[in-house]
Amino acid sequence: MPLVTTKEMFEKALKGGYAIGAFNVDTMDILKATLRAAEKTQSPVIIAISSGALKFIGEDYIRQICDCAAKEFTIPFALHLDHGKSVDLCKRCIDIGFTSVMIDASAYDFEENIRQTKEVVEYAHARGVVVESELGAIAGIEEDVVVDDKYGQFTHPDQAEEFVKRTGIDSLAIAIGTAHGAYKFKPGQKPQLRFDILKEITERLPGFPLVLHGASSVPASALERLNAYGGKMPAAIGIPEAMLTEASQKGIAKINVGTDLRVAFVGGMRKALHEQPEQFDSRLFLNAGLDCITDLVADKMVNVFHSAGHAKD
Ligand SMILES: [Zn+2]
Repeated sequence: MPLVTTKEMFEKALKGGYAIGAFNVDTMDILKATLRAAEKTQSPVIIAISSGALKFIGEDYIRQICDCAAKEFTIPFALHLDHGKSVDLCKRCIDIGFTSVMIDASAYDFEENIRQTKEVVEYAHARGVVVESELGAIAGIEEDVVVDDKYGQFTHPDQAEEFVKRTGIDSLAIAIGTAHGAYKFKPGQKPQLRFDILKEITERLPGFPLVLHGASSVPASALERLNAYGGKMPAAIGIPEAMLTEASQKGIAKINVGTDLRVAFVGGMRKALHEQPEQFDSRLFLNAGLDCITDLVADKMVNVFHSAGHAKD
């Protein structure tokens, strides 16, 4: 089916108490492996493209790849720019045919964040595209951050409400304890999402789609495979899956996953390379990694986000 925006997906997800996975894909093959999981589980899905992935795949290729995929797959999927760091990049992606963009001006002060976000919203909405923006510091849980009140570096509910109302965005990425990458936490540090803050934000913004970034779980099975065949990621820690499920039932409509796909892909490739040293057919090794991605994404749709079966709601 043709590409869709996330608007309807989020409405249904919030009503149904599940979340839509936004999976960061780095290549065309990974995009297809992700869509295969969505098709298999009959789940709606968001294909997330970072600016790095956009460069790697090629701006001229991405929309055409998605148009081909839209003919092959029957599940609804959105093409989303992840962390658009400038207004210009967001506008360019809207022109290419992305159905959703994220403007990430969270490094700027509140007023400048609003100004840039509003500019993207005006451009996007005029073209039928939806916009996500970010408020708060998702980047890291750092020990040297001085926390002077309950909210610290997390998203403040007052600001979230004001930000959404003044910008007209369609979804908001909030900081409640997730972090990007495979090393989200220091050894001994326990991952904990601030469900109390999430509750306050949802009370201010009832029915509004909220987004979790940095929500890879780094599943033990994928990590063990990678480390068993020559990888060296001993201290990777993610967000426990049960916390993500809870978040999906409490107002989080979109959950971003990037790291887990990479760990699955590289682990699958490493295993196949190790077990079949006499082979040199590149497709054999690529497929081993891609199958691991399909399995991982399908598992999240069925067991963690509970979006499986909702493709044709
Ligand atoms: Zn992110």
